[in-house]
Amino acid sequence: MIGLGRFGLSVCKELQDSGAEVLAIDINEDRVREAAGFVTQAIVANCTIEETVSELKLEDYDMVMVSIGSDVNASILTTLVVKEAGVKSVWVKANDKFHAKILQKIGADHIILPERDMGIRVARKMLDKRVLEFHELGSDIAMTEIVVGARLLGKKLSDLSLCNEQGVQVLGFKRGPEVTKAPEMSKVLEIGDVIILVGPKATLAKKLSSL
Ligand code: ATP
Repeated sequence: MIGLGRFGLSVCKELQDSGAEVLAIDINEDRVREAAGFVTQAIVANCTIEETVSELKLEDYDMVMVSIGSDVNASILTTLVVKEAGVKSVWVKANDKFHAKILQKIGADHIILPERDMGIRVARKMLDKRVLEFHELGSDIAMTEIVVGARLLGKKLSDLSLCNEQGVQVLGFKRGPEVTKAPEMSKVLEIGDVIILVGPKATLAKKLSSL
């Protein structure tokens, strides 16, 4: 990881927690010290300098991410130097679509626009989680309806862990005006379908929040 701002540090942490080996690099000593507490190795270096990057042997890593936002020149130059050093998979954080366009032209393999990408993910999650009703039936059993959004599109009812375990059952299914009782679990979901579920309230709540 080159650039240890909030985004870079957060990616480092998640990668390391997931078992990857992480090398964290920044020109700022304080940032490097912060990262050193949880990554495999942390180094102070200026990655716009070819010789420095060549000494770091970044081409031996599966992926390199450049997460320098505030200094666009440094971001572009670093991407160029890293790419020329022979790194196969270079991920770069871009500030906006103009920055992204330049990065694309100089050969960045994956371009991240955090605000845009996160906005899309949040909107999809919001749509998928629309819960129309949550009726308590007594004895901690509840009934709820969920509307299928983009994240569940194309999946089968049987693909939803929700429908397979811990006493949760699919009571019914609505597509447009048509209502089906106990639908086939092989049914492929479309946007706007409504799944009616019944089961222990705690399980339903937990499973819905992880969808
Ligand atoms: P955020 O904090 O939201 O992720 P950002 O990318 O704008 O946004 P910065 O605080 O600018 O956050 O983080 C960029 C980091 O990149 C800084 O810690 C900075 O020291 C580092 N950096 C800048 N130029 C270089 C360079 N040439 N080589 C290595 N690191 C660099």
